[in-house]
Amino acid sequence: MSALVPRSDFPLLSVNPALVYLDSAATAQKPRAVLDAMNEFYESDYANPHRGAYALSARATERYARARGAVARFFGVRDEECLIFTRGTTDSLNLIAGAWGRANLGRGDEVIVTGAEHHANFVPWQQIAIERGATFTICPLAADGRADVEALAALVSRKTRVIAFNHVSNVLGAINSVPEIASIARSVGALSVCDGAQGAPHMAVGFDALGVDFYAASAHKMLGPMGTGVLIGRREVLELLPPYQTGGDMIEFVGDERTTWNVLPHKLEAGTPNVAGAVGLAAACDYLTAIGIDAVASHERALVRLAYERVSAIEHVRVHGPAATERSGVLSFTVGDIHPHDLASLLDERQICIRAGHHCAQPLMRRLGVSATARASFYVYNDENDVETLGAAIESAKRVFALA
Ligand code: PLP
Repeated sequence: MSALVPRSDFPLLSVNPALVYLDSAATAQKPRAVLDAMNEFYESDYANPHRGAYALSARATERYARARGAVARFFGVRDEECLIFTRGTTDSLNLIAGAWGRANLGRGDEVIVTGAEHHANFVPWQQIAIERGATFTICPLAADGRADVEALAALVSRKTRVIAFNHVSNVLGAINSVPEIASIARSVGALSVCDGAQGAPHMAVGFDALGVDFYAASAHKMLGPMGTGVLIGRREVLELLPPYQTGGDMIEFVGDERTTWNVLPHKLEAGTPNVAGAVGLAAACDYLTAIGIDAVASHERALVRLAYERVSAIEHVRVHGPAATERSGVLSFTVGDIHPHDLASLLDERQICIRAGHHCAQPLMRRLGVSATARASFYVYNDENDVETLGAAIESAKRVFALA
């Protein structure tokens, strides 16, 4: 199975032909189209948007608005004013937990997250629950690492105000049923917040049909730049949301005693925006759309299936999470008692990049009964040779550690 896109589209991969990059769940490599779009913005249309009375500033404003439109189309959002540009998933989730939580949570209310959340969708909710005197409940996981929806349905009550959960686990690649969880939340009048950091890069989101109240994602995991992300929300909730940060751009009128807020999306985008970031994300969305997001999903699933078979057949290897056919392009595993960091270092000697550690998911590590795993993750530029190179390198590492 060859890669879905030519390696030559990616400058870093082109100049490092021997590099086997298997860490796209941490961050994806950038196609030239994204780098060129950002550069072109800086070279042709760069100025501070929204404020200038001159044509160049108007062009920068126009580029920012066009980027929002393109990203909204990619995420399946008709009302593009409901797409807020942020610094990334962490920023998006802190925005909603902080702004909504502070305004809406009180003593006796309940916040539910799953046991498989990245710290970015765990800690902000835990902290706002502590601050507001709300109960913080962790929904159990099914054996395959997905949220146990039956347990969740039994857990919720009228006290439940929010359910925060991932679209896809960054450790296990397990894919949650977003509409099902959103519907459980709706049945008790709770808000549903989906962490799409590992969903949006790999499968169609279709926000308007998803049923969830909020969806967060990071540009850098979907071929776009670091420092940019989105929070997409339902207008009714966004309209009632108090600002997350205050300052320039997000105001309507500043009086000596009080201030009124700008309309969406500006109310939630204080300060000079990251226009180049938005332009880069829009170019990444266009690139993924040109390949076809469904083709991206099938390519990764085929590769991960191959990797699952190759790696799990090696003696002493334990692959965590769902069956080969049920996962997004992520494979977490341990090899006997070889520490994942040692394994990753040995693989690095062969120019294979994998991640090792708790993957910012310590609550999940506890539930898996491990302190760390090794993780290989696949994307559009990976092919079956990468899978074979990984398998052979694990076998060689076992010999180095005298693991028969
Ligand atoms: N949520 C998940 C599932 C992730 O995998 C990550 C990053 O690895 C994040 C949230 C945080 O994303 P960022 O660091 O881009 O804000």
